[in-house]
Amino acid sequence: MSELLAPPGRIIPLFDVPASNHEVRLHLADAWSRVCASGQFVGGPEVEQFEDAWTAHCGRRFVVGVGNGTDALTLTLLALGIGSGDEVVLPTNTFVATAEAVALVGATPRFVDVEPDTLLVSVDEVRGALTDRTAAVIAVDLFGSIPDMDALADLTDRAGIALLEDAAQGHGAARQGRPAGSFGVASTFSFYPGKNLGALGDAGAVATDDRWLASRIRSLGNHGRVGEQLHLHAVAGTNSRLDALQAAVLSAKLVRLRAWTRHRQELAECYRDGLRGSPATVVQVPEGVDSAHHLFVVQMDDRDGVRRRLGARGIATGVHYRVPCHRTGAMQRDAVDPLPVAEEAAGRILSLPMYPQLSEADVSRVCEAVAEHTLEVRA
Ligand SMILES: *Cc1c(COP(=O)(O)O)cnc(C)c1O
Repeated sequence: MSELLAPPGRIIPLFDVPASNHEVRLHLADAWSRVCASGQFVGGPEVEQFEDAWTAHCGRRFVVGVGNGTDALTLTLLALGIGSGDEVVLPTNTFVATAEAVALVGATPRFVDVEPDTLLVSVDEVRGALTDRTAAVIAVDLFGSIPDMDALADLTDRAGIALLEDAAQGHGAARQGRPAGSFGVASTFSFYPGKNLGALGDAGAVATDDRWLASRIRSLGNHGRVGEQLHLHAVAGTNSRLDALQAAVLSAKLVRLRAWTRHRQELAECYRDGLRGSPATVVQVPEGVDSAHHLFVVQMDDRDGVRRRLGARGIATGVHYRVPCHRTGAMQRDAVDPLPVAEEAAGRILSLPMYPQLSEADVSRVCEAVAEHTLEVRA
């Protein structure tokens, strides 16, 4: 046990947003002065510029900036007319926001299980969960990977229902060359600071090819206004808009996104090499997917023991997510069907440090600490 008290080396955080900010600090300072001098703080040219850039990045026709990733989902569901009496199918192992959006519009979340190797939503489970009340399926780009969107689109097209992509963890990923944010009727993004493209506060967006849907979402997030008409409130909406400052920050960081994603992918390769032969099983990326590696997740026995040891070595880790949504107090209804794959995984998953400024030497240090733990536990 004395090992646990050994003095840590340099602290390795789970992510390091200040390090990314530092890389673009001159552009951030410039963005700050530009916006302060502009007199336009909500919406305006900075927002339009970022929306255009993000539209191109996603290969979509329209992007609507909103207040955060949860609102992006909620407003999209509202705009599609999904609400009371409707069911929405989604994977249980996602950030709770995916489910919250469904509950907030008054629809019923139908949670489904995931594939054991990728932890991405299982297409068969989705197929089995469709009923005549299902109004939409939300697929999640979990950990920066992308589920089988072709197979899911096939199901939802046949059923005549909407497919949404929750791409809050997907910025920079691709499936068969198609970027995250280009799948389904609409894709929703969060630009929370810790996401692969992050603002300096809350921000989000919806990407779609549907002009009507885009303008409906923009109207709902802007007090039901239509276009520039300040006093015409056509529908009961809410306030969820993108700030000019956050848009300017996102434009500054977007320039680095490709390089940052590439570096995450190189680090993931180092992890795979470094953990080979160790009892940590790396969560797989499906064939044909270039993961954006928002998180680098392994599965192993004695997960909490490893966490403690890494913590004592100055290495931060996380668990995404400790409780599958269908088991949270917020979502649990009277009878909960077991979702065994996600439930078992929840006790075994461990997120290791992953951010673009992490060094390969740091990755080696993490891998050694993981290997060391098992050697000692076995001894
Ligand atoms: C972060 C996240 C969200 C919510 O985004 P916010 O901007 O925090 O509201 C939704 N879904 C997933 C999968 C996320 O990771």
